[in-house]
Amino acid sequence: MASPVVRFAPSPTGRIHIGNARPALLNALFARAAGGRFVLRFDDTDVERSRAEYAESIEADLHWLGVRPDLVVRQSDRFALYAAAADRLRGQGRLYPAYETADELDRRRKRLQARGLPPVYDRAALKLTPEQVAAFEAEGRRRHWRFRLDHRTVAWDDLVRGPCTVDCASLSDPVLVRADGSYLYTLPSVVDDADLGITHVIRGEDHVTNAAVQIQIFEALGAAVPAFAHHNLLTTAAGEGLSKRSGALAIGALRDEGVEALAVAAMAVLTGSSAAVRPVASLDALAEGFDLRHLSRAPARFDEAELRALSAKVLHGLPFDAVASRLALFGIVGAKAEPFWAAVRGNLSRFAEVAEWWSVVEDVVEPAVEDEAFLDRAAALLPPEPWGADTWGAWTAALKAETGRKGRALFHPLRLALTARDAGPDLKGLLPLIGRARASDRIRGTPA
Ligand code: GLU
Repeated sequence: MASPVVRFAPSPTGRIHIGNARPALLNALFARAAGGRFVLRFDDTDVERSRAEYAESIEADLHWLGVRPDLVVRQSDRFALYAAAADRLRGQGRLYPAYETADELDRRRKRLQARGLPPVYDRAALKLTPEQVAAFEAEGRRRHWRFRLDHRTVAWDDLVRGPCTVDCASLSDPVLVRADGSYLYTLPSVVDDADLGITHVIRGEDHVTNAAVQIQIFEALGAAVPAFAHHNLLTTAAGEGLSKRSGALAIGALRDEGVEALAVAAMAVLTGSSAAVRPVASLDALAEGFDLRHLSRAPARFDEAELRALSAKVLHGLPFDAVASRLALFGIVGAKAEPFWAAVRGNLSRFAEVAEWWSVVEDVVEPAVEDEAFLDRAAALLPPEPWGADTWGAWTAALKAETGRKGRALFHPLRLALTARDAGPDLKGLLPLIGRARASDRIRGTPA
């Protein structure tokens, strides 16, 4: 197979949330696994609702997730292509003018429904006489344009859902061009998919019916029909659909809250699949073994508590190389940075907590002295330098042998004096970073 080209096609009418991260990542991982290309396409034909700042935030959010498009296009730059395609369809008699107002269509739909019939457009516009058209035009009505569907069953082998069929006789001819000349999503999407050589359309299952319509449009335009993969949608834990309004699940909000990007990516991809949700150290690791066929067909509940737990697990497993530049942003650099990361990562629930632990290692700490006599003994028994991974064990073993203390009574006063905190990372790793001089002062109650 030639290398695939995929696209993620958000409308820049709001911030993206975890539900949008799913197709973004499924496409990105698919391209990654197959050595293909990933196009970010902004579906901004709705000029009223689309905003440049939303497009910018979407790019920033994708960047944070580790998704780097090979190409970015905007539909608003490509109207000439859509106009040419519409002309071509008109030339074939596949795009026809209609004059109904929204109210008229609504009334017609309700009449059909009242009679228990499917609310399908009756193609009345195809039967208009030239006089009726002239009368509408004289009234000031402006025409919109519908695509004349072939009333046949369209079939495709969906890469998620398996064999799919849609009987197009049961569908209304879709409006492709509005009365004001603007394009609905359907046609520009096909034109761009064809023009950009998109080989695989990976998107939510809310587009299954669109696929049948779009396959007919691809064919009418003489374009190669891409493969389709319609993934199950994420819902909230309560089973409700995610919408742009689920603000807390916006990618930007999760980032600001300190959730790890790789946890969001893993949840977005693995929720509702046969693969277990697992912490990963890179998108490559997530792409490994990734297969669209693992996605289930049922809606998938997205559990925020699981995301937060996963985020911590992701942190605990990140190697130093993966975080060195992020640590540098907190001023955590130099020879201590790597052992510091090894010492604290297992204790973090959010990355930003590194600042606090770096300060425990590097800055003056006002020790909390709980048990002076015991701490005096502890100070006396501090081993000589050099200190390493065994120092904590050797020191506390000697202290235990001498004082008979164990467990919390042994360890807690040391932790309080050394870090001024009740809890935290293993002291085995922190102690050598604090160093003998500081440790000795702190144990004796001197700020150091
Ligand atoms: N802009 C469309 C959406 O966000 C894209 C659908 C598609 O991928 O074709 O739903």
